[in-house]
Amino acid sequence: MMTEDLIREKLKEVKYPGFSRDIVSFGLLQKIWIEGDDVTVKLSLATRDPQIPDQINRDTRAVLEAIDGVGNVHVEFDIKDPPEPVAGGGGQQGGGLGTSSIPGIKKIIAVASGKGGVGKSTVAANLAVALAQGGAKVGLCDCDLYGPSMALMFGSKGEQLMANEQNEILPIEAHGIKVISMGFMLGDDAPAIVRGPLATRYTQQFLRQCAWGELDYLVLDLPPGTGDIQLTIVQTVALDGAVVVTTPQEVALIDARKAVAMFQKVNVPILGIIENMAWFECEHGTRYPIFGEGGGKAEAERLGVPLLGQIPLDIATRDRADQGRPVALDDPSGNAISAAFRGVAKQVSEVVGA
Ligand code: ADP
Repeated sequence: MMTEDLIREKLKEVKYPGFSRDIVSFGLLQKIWIEGDDVTVKLSLATRDPQIPDQINRDTRAVLEAIDGVGNVHVEFDIKDPPEPVAGGGGQQGGGLGTSSIPGIKKIIAVASGKGGVGKSTVAANLAVALAQGGAKVGLCDCDLYGPSMALMFGSKGEQLMANEQNEILPIEAHGIKVISMGFMLGDDAPAIVRGPLATRYTQQFLRQCAWGELDYLVLDLPPGTGDIQLTIVQTVALDGAVVVTTPQEVALIDARKAVAMFQKVNVPILGIIENMAWFECEHGTRYPIFGEGGGKAEAERLGVPLLGQIPLDIATRDRADQGRPVALDDPSGNAISAAFRGVAKQVSEVVGA
């Protein structure tokens, strides 16, 4: 019996050209129609490269025509232009997915959350460290202008940003990561004076007027929520993917869904969901689901994206963040949370490459 579910399952065999990830989990599948034996699927793409839809068309047809009982297959495309790199960008044009608009940077990954306080910055810091522990050259841009936390999390409080002769900001290096944060510009107690267009300008400057050098990955710690500043960032830098952080409780999941929808709207692939504060384990090994149970997993399944990891509520993780030594620096064989972050980094690098 041919059903939409069967077609959707089969379409998961079609990879996005150049990626190990399939077109369904990238969010390209818009609609499936079945009329008698005939199947029509509609896919939405953001690319200027005509070879991408050609290839996807061929692969999709091959997969669907191989299903028993399927007659004619039609593949419809809704093709939009990818986000324009802003002026001064030196990335290759035309790729949409996989195109970096910052010279020297191979892949740009955003870490987002619908809500504040769910551990987005903690995840961004540890993801950056875990990627670097795997041998990659990594930068971390703290785009959370109103609540910058990377100076603290990398043990660099009090350091000041300097510029080079080309007037580019020099990132601060800590634990092998190049870090930029508003926290290096404002003192600890300075009010968040940056608003509206100025906030956008600062963010653009952090991303584009910064001496990042050659990087395999630039991790962006986005501000929480789905407002103007987040939209500006996701539209002006060609992101290779986004990781959405949530706690398991419904009130966080509702906002996480909004973050996912924002990325899908601008055709940024969702690399997966990270469930943070997933449980607390006491010294006797009993797990307490303080913020509820299984919400991140259920949401990932609903959205058809991977659950990249579940990070428990852990005193040492918080303590390390406050001490400026992200927990992912620990040997993963002796620290389950470090191991979980290494696992996240591995999946991210496998999907986006570098
Ligand atoms: P966000 O960026 O979402 O606002 P943060 O990463 O700043 O959240 O985390 C908020 C607070 O929670 C910080 O003090 C951080 O150290 C702590 N925290 C985050 N994740 C965990 C965790 N898994 N276990 C314990 N504390 C955590």
